[in-house]
Amino acid sequence: MPDQTPPVIPGPRDLTLRPEHAGKRPSVTVLAGPTAVGKGTVSQYIRQHYPQVCLSVSATTRSPRPDEINGVHYWFVSDEEFNELIAEGKMLEWAEVHGMNKYGTRRDTVERAIAKGRHVLLEIDLQGARQVRQSMPEALFVFLAPPSWEELVRRLVGRGTESEAEQQRRLETAKLELAAEPEFDAVIVNDTVGQAAARLVDIMQLPAQQR
Ligand code: 5GP
Repeated sequence: MPDQTPPVIPGPRDLTLRPEHAGKRPSVTVLAGPTAVGKGTVSQYIRQHYPQVCLSVSATTRSPRPDEINGVHYWFVSDEEFNELIAEGKMLEWAEVHGMNKYGTRRDTVERAIAKGRHVLLEIDLQGARQVRQSMPEALFVFLAPPSWEELVRRLVGRGTESEAEQQRRLETAKLELAAEPEFDAVIVNDTVGQAAARLVDIMQLPAQQR
């Protein structure tokens, strides 16, 4: 059995806040990064090991995978329902990811959590992160990076969920996505999932009662 105890990383780490943070601890953290870097795995780990983190549940038009639960991993909605949410201005951000399905974050659920004093984590793609940067510049933007390009290729090919043509397409996208790293406030290298998650929670600097 692998060790299930989250590693302890000394913290809180130094983080240079931007003027938009106005010297305050941000209440929204955005985790983005290139395709196949393991954002989903890190957020899954956080869901299991750090219940004090309020992980935003996105809406998506893609079908649930066998182990996914509606309302826990995603809100699975139809294309019509998703378009309605957009038309009604209910999305804080949304994007069509890999030209296939739509994914988005509802503004009201994030705002309700903030009002309750929670620190919300959004695990979203780069297009979504850029939209949040526009509408919520005071959020904290964290880039999840692969240990190396070779490792990113290995992870994408190794998971075997995409055809070869699709893998090539995603690797081209990943190159563009990697170039976005300087737009972020902090970079976490996803070497092992437990360490990456611990670093992220450390960077979020949760209020003492939520640690
Ligand atoms: P998956 O289908 O593997 O769960 O997720 C595919 C991609 O969609 C991942 O890159 C993930 O970060 C992104 N994603 C998940 N939820 C959202 C969301 O609410 N907004 C945006 N923009 N991207 C999302």
